[in-house]
Amino acid sequence: MRSATQYGALHGKRHIITTAIEHYAILHTLQQLEKEGFDITYLDVPENGRITAEMVANAIRSDTCLVSVMLANNEIGTIEPIAEIGAVCRKKGVVFHTDAVQAVGHILVDVEKMSIDMLSLSAHKFHGPKGVGVLYAKKGVPISSIIHSGAQERGRRAGTENLSGIVGMAAVLQECCSHMEQNTAYLTNLRDKLIQGLSQILHSVLNGDCIYRLPGNVHFCFEGIDGESLLIMLDNQGICASAGSACTSGSLDPSHVLSAIGRSTFLARGALRLTLSEDNTAEDVDYLLKVIPEAVEKLRKMSPVWTELQEEKRSYEI
Ligand SMILES: *Cc1c(COP(=O)(O)O)cnc(C)c1O
Repeated sequence: MRSATQYGALHGKRHIITTAIEHYAILHTLQQLEKEGFDITYLDVPENGRITAEMVANAIRSDTCLVSVMLANNEIGTIEPIAEIGAVCRKKGVVFHTDAVQAVGHILVDVEKMSIDMLSLSAHKFHGPKGVGVLYAKKGVPISSIIHSGAQERGRRAGTENLSGIVGMAAVLQECCSHMEQNTAYLTNLRDKLIQGLSQILHSVLNGDCIYRLPGNVHFCFEGIDGESLLIMLDNQGICASAGSACTSGSLDPSHVLSAIGRSTFLARGALRLTLSEDNTAEDVDYLLKVIPEAVEKLRKMSPVWTELQEEKRSYEI
């Protein structure tokens, strides 16, 4: 991103377009660029979290140097219309970067068909080693080094590379790609069964899009409970889940993604994200569907807010 913006600045272009639901890896980098004089447009997202290519087209100005839109959201699992956005950027001559960290290794990504100029991915999100990733740049897209030292990699990235990590990443990625179609079908089936079952819980809402959704992602808000307590209860029963993104855990602020899709602070508190992998089975989903509704019910019984809702001293949001 930095290279594209440095190049833009050289040509007097200091406008960047992104979305309100990007990962902090993008948002915090952009905040820094804002301090350096760049003007950033954060596109609002509709309730399903899916922007349109038209929104991007309407936001592009003569001084736009970069569009950065994530391929799939790490909290709510929404898959963005990347090919359409890529086509708009290509037509208008604006560099298009996508944060594909959640997508690569999980769904089909084609930099050519999607008109992607730059793409980032991270190995540990597809069972690869930690601390290795890739920045893809299409031939002709200028990249400048952000680590300054020796002239390794033809001056693009200084420092001695983590060869074993890189080889490990490539091997795992190859493995993922060789089973991609079967995995997607298998996971989509498990995911939809889980979504279907959890939707039976009263006063709950699925976050993200039903169709344009990562095959392993399930994300709900349950009204009247505290997500952190739910996590502890699930953990005691052998279920690893998350209340949002690992990168924001420990923070008391509601997730910026849930706020952006219109969930109130109150609802966002009762968030639960489950991520399924190929190693999960139909029995696992059955187990989740037994444990989670019971846990939600138990927590609601202990919750003063839930009592207020039941006694109509407060009205349900969902
Ligand atoms: C995890 C994640 C990142 C950050 O990747 P790390 O390698 O863990 O720093 C960036 N974007 C998205 C969408 C992610 O899910």
